[in-house]
This record gives sequence, structure tokens and C-alpha cells, in this order.
Amino acid sequence: MNIKLLMMSLSTLFVTTAFSANLHYTLVKKESQKAGSTLLVIGGIHGDEPGGYFAPMLLSKYYTIESGHVWIVPNLNFDSIAKNVRGTYGDMNRKFAKIESKDKDFEIVSDIKKLILSPSVDLTLNLHDGQGFYRQKTINKDFNPKAWGQATIIDQQQIPNAKFGNLGEIAKKVNKETNIELLEDVHEFNVKDTNTKKQDKAMQQSLTYFSITNNKPAFAIETSKNITNLSQKVFYQLKTIEEFMNLMNIKFSRSFELNQKNIDSLLADDGILEIPTTKIKLDLSTLKSSIAYFPMNKDKLVYSSNNPLVSVIQDKETYKIMNGNIFIARLKPEYSEFDNSLDTVKVVIDGKNTTAKIGSLITIKHDFMVEDIKGYRINLIGFSKSGVINESGIKVTHKDFIKTYAIDKNEQTFMVQFYKDKKFCGMVNIKFESGKK
Ligand SMILES: [Zn+2]
Repeated sequence: MNIKLLMMSLSTLFVTTAFSANLHYTLVKKESQKAGSTLLVIGGIHGDEPGGYFAPMLLSKYYTIESGHVWIVPNLNFDSIAKNVRGTYGDMNRKFAKIESKDKDFEIVSDIKKLILSPSVDLTLNLHDGQGFYRQKTINKDFNPKAWGQATIIDQQQIPNAKFGNLGEIAKKVNKETNIELLEDVHEFNVKDTNTKKQDKAMQQSLTYFSITNNKPAFAIETSKNITNLSQKVFYQLKTIEEFMNLMNIKFSRSFELNQKNIDSLLADDGILEIPTTKIKLDLSTLKSSIAYFPMNKDKLVYSSNNPLVSVIQDKETYKIMNGNIFIARLKPEYSEFDNSLDTVKVVIDGKNTTAKIGSLITIKHDFMVEDIKGYRINLIGFSKSGVINESGIKVTHKDFIKTYAIDKNEQTFMVQFYKDKKFCGMVNIKFESGKK
């Protein structure tokens, strides 16, 4: 894992979500230096439709916009994503015609409406996973006009006098390109016109209809819930988004070739979680599913991640870390006050003197020793030597640790915590290169 690279993307894509009962969405603005149209991509209006939010997550992490602008909201209904339900407070996509101010979705719906109506936005995409495979004629229970999957959805054929107002024509053009590279023939995309104004009362309350009634083009992209492989759904979502960018003359590049295998490996990277108030950094991809003695502040938890789908949710006495609807780990907190006086520590790594930043991950070949710091106590979690309270100045190897205290799945990484009296001063994580030694 290239930690350095991930940290770089952390600084360019710093996403802060304060802990609250109601997680707010993230807006990632990709602004190029060259003038052009602006595309707004909205993911996760329905929390149990992962194709609709993992695709915009990859878009925000791995795409560069070279002309024009792309604004990305990967996690509109964030509370519902973390719970893997359609809508924690009811169906958010039925709240765009009317919403009560006491509705828990009120703030989010009001904010996203403002964003959609922002004069810069030329076109909005609302991403979903839908039932079955949309076809104009009924073939069977999965392939028929009532299905929603594998379709570009329009509310009507045209918005007169709007830039990109030929909705029907645009959807058809986009699908034609997407259909060139199908993983299976039955995955073909079709245009579904819900004819919302005349025929669809439910859709009159939707996000896209709100947009088009305000003369702003909007489409829904629906991959199929019947496709169970997440990377296939994400492939089709990204392919379709790219075709919309091409059509809008938005130039882009990405750091990978668009195919299912690459998407699989990008999705396997859960990201980095940072807790700045306690100077803690965790690699979520390798993190063990349960971690005890995790130092935390009693006050409000503030965290950030290079993955906008990461959330940390209090659950009784513990904290649950989620990547979208995927459970990553449960932290069992050890509450203490925080002392901010320590920035670096001296560590002898495999016989070599080094300075390590608090919060960093250090890789060790064979052994390490943390040098004594006057006035501070050092606690190697998982190591104990009878009669020793301050564990500085002791040379330790992998076999000196009790493996169940490791914080990674391979049981190679251990926490080294620093204390001043009873106050926690941060930690470094020590990773032994080979777990077998
Ligand atoms: Zn949906």
C-alpha cells in the first residue's frame, strides 16, 4: 500500500463530516482551469442502492477534470447509506415537491435543491440501482416496462429552450455508447420515459422532476439490482457518467483503465480514517473488525477520510466504522483527556535511529525500541513485561506481542500509545513486515 500517495489525496480531497445523528452529504467540486459546462452527479439518494454511491465515490477519488466542471455528491442520503436502507426517514426521492420543515431530511433536501438550481449547473444525474431490466415490451417478470434497471430515465422528451434540453435524444445517444461495452448482452441500457407530468404522481415528487420543472435538465441512471456484483454496477454507472461528460464536452482523465477488474481492486481500498483531535490515522482496508482500548475523546467525534463514503457511528458503548453500506470495524473506546504537547517521538527501527511523527505508520523488519521521553509514559498495546509500567527503552520484536491486540487482519500492526500522566498524547502504529517471524 502506498501510504504517501493516499495521504496526498487526503490533502486535496479533505472531507470532514462532523459526527451527528444526521450525517450531511459531501460536495466534491472538480473545477478545471478551462471554461465549459458543469455536470452535477448525485449518488446515494437511496441508501440500499450501492451502485449509485460507490460509482461517484470512485469518480471523486480517481478522475481529473481537464475542461469544464464536475460537481459530485456521492452520499446524499448518508444516514441511510450507513444503515443500508432505502430511506431512514422515508423515501427522500418523494420529498422534492413538498417537505415539512420538521422532516429529518429537510436540511439535506433544501441544500441539494439549491445546488441543482445553482446557475453554474447545466445538467444533473441522479444515480440509482433499480429493480429488474427495463424493456419496452414484457418478456418476463424481470424484463418488462415496469422494471427500472439498466435504464436512463427521463421525465419527458424535452425541456424547450434549455441547453441540453433534448432529454430523449441525449439519453438515447448516451445508451448507444454504453451498450458498446456490455459485460453481458442482457445488460443493455434503454431509455425509460416516465412521462411524469401526465402519468406518474410518485415521480412528480422526485429530484429529477424538481430539476426539469425548473428548466434544468436532469436524468436518473439506474443499474439493475438483479446484477449482484457491485463492480459490474459501478462499471455501468461510470461508463454512463463518462458518456454524459463526452456529450457535454467535459474533458477528463482517470488514473486507471475502466474495466471490471480494476474497479474491483479500487473498491477493495476502503480508505484512510483520520481523527485529527487525537492525531490518529487508520488504514481501513487492513483494519481488524474489532479493536479494543481505542483512545477517544469524550466530546464530539470529528473525523475525515479520503473516502467520502466513510462514516463513524456511535452504537451504544462502541463506534462503528462503515464504508458506504459495508461494515469495516467496531471500536471499543478508552476515553481519556488529550494532551497536545507531543509531535514527534524517537524510535530505533532495526537498529537505526529515526524520528516518527505522532499518527504515522512505521514499518519494521525485525525489531524496534521507543526511546524514553522525560515526563511521558509509553504503552505498547499487546506487549507486557511484569513490573514494567513505562515501556520505553525496550527492544521488541513481533513475537513479543500478543497477536489478538493487533489492529490489522494479518495481526502485524500494533498501537504504541503515549501518555502524560493520565492524558493521551497520540500514538504511532508499528507494522512488522513479516507476520511469520
Ligand atoms: Zn433508487
